[in-house]
Amino acid sequence: MTLSGVARVAFVGSRRIFASHLPSMQSYTPAFSRQVHNPATGEVIANVSCMGGKETKDAISSAFDAFNSWSKLTAAERSKGLRKWYDLLMAHKEELGQLITLEQGKPLKEAVGEVDYGAKFIEFYAEEAKRVYGEIIPATLPDRRLFVLKQPVGVAGAITPWNFPLAMITRKVGPALACGCTVVVKPSEFTPLTALAAAELALQAGIPPGVVNVVMGNAPDIGDALLTSPQVRKITFTGSTAVGKKLMAGAAGTVKKVSLELGGNAPCIVFDDADLNVAVNGALAAKFRNSGQTCVCANRVLVQEGIYEKFADAFSKAVKNLKVGDGFGEGVVQGPLINKAALEKVETFVEDAVSKGAKVLLGGRRHSLGMTFYEPTVLSNVKSEMLVSREEVFGPVAPLLCFKTEEEAIHMANDTNAGLAAYIFTNNLQRTWRVSEALEYGLVGVNEGLISTEVAPFGGVKQSGLGREGSKYGMDEFLEIKYVCLGDMNRK
Ligand code: ADP
Repeated sequence: MTLSGVARVAFVGSRRIFASHLPSMQSYTPAFSRQVHNPATGEVIANVSCMGGKETKDAISSAFDAFNSWSKLTAAERSKGLRKWYDLLMAHKEELGQLITLEQGKPLKEAVGEVDYGAKFIEFYAEEAKRVYGEIIPATLPDRRLFVLKQPVGVAGAITPWNFPLAMITRKVGPALACGCTVVVKPSEFTPLTALAAAELALQAGIPPGVVNVVMGNAPDIGDALLTSPQVRKITFTGSTAVGKKLMAGAAGTVKKVSLELGGNAPCIVFDDADLNVAVNGALAAKFRNSGQTCVCANRVLVQEGIYEKFADAFSKAVKNLKVGDGFGEGVVQGPLINKAALEKVETFVEDAVSKGAKVLLGGRRHSLGMTFYEPTVLSNVKSEMLVSREEVFGPVAPLLCFKTEEEAIHMANDTNAGLAAYIFTNNLQRTWRVSEALEYGLVGVNEGLISTEVAPFGGVKQSGLGREGSKYGMDEFLEIKYVCLGDMNRK
């Protein structure tokens, strides 16, 4: 749906949220609408259109038409549009942050931090747009000249999750637009408002209608329309491994380029020689950001036996200090989980661990605030076969596992189908290199729990996905390489 319609201001209670945007095509009256909730209160924030295959096809046509002109602009012109978009995102940092807290639940400070982080992808790719270099290859015959051109792949379908309502969009749309692609974005049904606000700002930045399109509603129908359309040449997705596999299979029908950023099962390895404070703070940040709802969140904390008791004690004390509440509350650092299903999943994982011998050091139950709040939890005596070690808990639960040797830690860390982020805490330089190289992961944090940045490549190995986002490598996902052979150069 081209977002060329009327900007609306969403009011929630007395809070003016944002000049958000609803698609308004003259010919289009949505048959259904869908409620967007505040996970902290259950309050209905807004009703948005519930779209499906037909609307997605319209959006693809609009992106396809816009591709003709957008891809032909000079890199400098595209760069200017992106830069303006970045400026507008930053100018609306506070309102966007409020919108994220409202529909996603993360604490306001973290939400505003996401706007900063998300906007930086647009700034970075505004700069990178000017550096899509080709190559000249030394020819094998004297009368030939061989060139490599890099060209935009075409219309890209971007399917994004609810845990970073802005950043997962900008991380895809930034490089796509920089390369000359146009996009159809499908945000999560839980967090469409931030996507609509960002798209509205793209329009205000002078990025032409049709370049950034947003469809939201029935996920399988929208997904099918994107997958089956021969006009969509690329699918870029962040979300669950199960849906990622479906999209990869579906993209095979029209042989689209695919990049997938899927689930993780991040190990956070604390060696005996680590600095205790650094390890506690790093593990805390890696585990509890966004209440544990990120794919790079530490899922298993592996602690060497010599430091285990000390670490468990200091870590539990630090976790106890995390203030839980509505993301708008003063000093709150842990918001609610996104929905009831997420809460029940956390409960199931904790029950499974406890039934198999894990000990609850802290938390271990729903929070007295009700709704989808869960107490920040630390479990000890966790074993590799427990659910909480095998799968992503996606909640505020830190399972501690004990290991004896470096080899054992590496084996435990790699004993999973996932391979997104891993963290190690050690003061031994040789060990840093040895372990970083041995870990089957796309990202490794050493003595640091927050490592994502727009300038570095983000992505997984094994079943955590394909391709990289962010950095100069993020551009490759939206480019085709064309070889041109110029023959008969010596003809007079
Ligand atoms: P999560 O468990 O984090 O919600 P999902 O993989 O279910 O992860 O969702 C991530 C995104 O994928 C969301 O925008 C969701 O609507 C979308 N999605 C879910 N199922 C499908 C599908 N069959 N086709 C296309 N998109 C889908």
